[in-house]
Amino acid sequence: MINSIKRCAISSKKVFSNTYCKREASGVSLSKGMPATARIVEVGPRDGLQNEKQIIPLNVKLELIRRLSHSGLKNIESGSFVSPKWVPQMADASEIFHYIREQKQINRKNATFGGRSAENPALVTSGITFSALTPNVKGLESALATGGVDEVAVFGAASEAFSQKNINCSIEESLKRFKPVAKLALDNKIKVRGYVSCVLGCPYTGAIPVEAVRDVSLRLLEMGCYEISLGDTIGVGTAGSTERLLTHLLSDKNIPASKLAVHFHDTYGQALANIYVALQHNINVIDSSVSGLGGCPYAAGASGNVATEDVLYMLHGLGIQTGVDLAQIARASEFIDEALNNRATGSKVAAAQRSIAKKKLANAQKDCV
Ligand SMILES: [Zn+2]
Repeated sequence: MINSIKRCAISSKKVFSNTYCKREASGVSLSKGMPATARIVEVGPRDGLQNEKQIIPLNVKLELIRRLSHSGLKNIESGSFVSPKWVPQMADASEIFHYIREQKQINRKNATFGGRSAENPALVTSGITFSALTPNVKGLESALATGGVDEVAVFGAASEAFSQKNINCSIEESLKRFKPVAKLALDNKIKVRGYVSCVLGCPYTGAIPVEAVRDVSLRLLEMGCYEISLGDTIGVGTAGSTERLLTHLLSDKNIPASKLAVHFHDTYGQALANIYVALQHNINVIDSSVSGLGGCPYAAGASGNVATEDVLYMLHGLGIQTGVDLAQIARASEFIDEALNNRATGSKVAAAQRSIAKKKLANAQKDCV
């Protein structure tokens, strides 16, 4: 689909992939008292791309999603049904989900007739939840109309000031607005995920009381959200503040660890430490974005989500199973960075592995001469 990616006679991808595989295999089980498995929610195509400055062509987005679908990921947040006036990056959400629906149909048909492409489909759809952000009923209706959305997400802020600046209404008003969205989704047998943003800090008011996070989380659960993703939107949290927040939330019997996910941005480089704390609390659903795509338009200097590669490297090192192939994620990561005018990766793992691969490739080319 994308022709602009330059290829070399000696495959850098192969060198890259072998390096990664060796690393994964060396993962020892250190996860005493931690979950044995973890689920990654890949948010790069939505949270990540929506905050990249350049406008990204539809075919680049589809190719990214396609590559991610081959990695073993079970959750890919693929778009957002918001006004293009506010978020121009997401204007083509309908096209993305139309494509997903078409691919699902093709895969079903091929599976029924035992077709060859069922084994190696363009887009892997079996067992993958493709989700979208739908902040209002209009957005949800557009999402439903595509027939390709498996799950939707609504979001509430734990900070009053952030809610006002981000979605122009109070927390209370936003929650009222989401109630019919959640109901309509559930009536259509679509699962609803709830995001709480600014759980560890607000760009306008600083620290956030843990009680505020608990209150919004409870309201979203009452609405029917099956899971709450706790968002450190501006990436200011530390292991200490994460520990305090999670201890408080989990002391409420209505907020079990099984209903929580964590969503850290890596502005201060603390995301992995914070995720480690979440794992110690038995929270094993982690949002991340390939190559650490993204940022936050409301907080100067805020980085993207913690990189999927970095999270996988840590989890596999702990012996925690994810079912996700780091080598495939690395290829998707390399693809999107090249497609975004050779964007510098936000992943430490990707940066390290790419430089190793480059060196090996140079040596291999030398040997060939
Ligand atoms: Zn985010």
